[in-house]
Amino acid sequence: MRGLLGLKLRTDCESCVSKCCSQPYDWVYLTSRECARLAAVSGVGEEEFVAEREDADTGHVFRALNLPCRFLDAQTGRCKVYESRPMACRLFPFHVDPLTGDATLYSPGCGENLLFPPHDEEGWRLADLREEVRRWVGELRDELVVKG
Ligand code: SF4
Repeated sequence: MRGLLGLKLRTDCESCVSKCCSQPYDWVYLTSRECARLAAVSGVGEEEFVAEREDADTGHVFRALNLPCRFLDAQTGRCKVYESRPMACRLFPFHVDPLTGDATLYSPGCGENLLFPPHDEEGWRLADLREEVRRWVGELRDELVVKG
């Protein structure tokens, strides 16, 4: 993650057609706290938006968002739980692997709507969220199940 920490970027979400939320990525991992928060703000039961994802290489099982996401408003293309969206959504187009802590930049996910460096003062760095990401990864690891 070190090399990407200081990379400043901005995503032009206004010009996008919700590519990040409408594709079947299986890496929107959820902690139990995130599940409870989403259920509380949306009124939707966890069983309706939580799926289990098993890492085929390691056998680790995580909770993850069932995609395509039911919180994506098909009319507006906006997230209905934006202020409470999961950390994995906040991090996009970065993907942080909870097992290794390694971050990758999934730039094709945003395509031409990904600006780095941004042309203006806006934008953010992974470093800005470092402590939150560290706590989130710790929770995910504490809660994962190993099958076998
Ligand atoms: S929770 Fe919101 S930001 Fe995350 S995938 Fe669903 S619609 Fe997109």
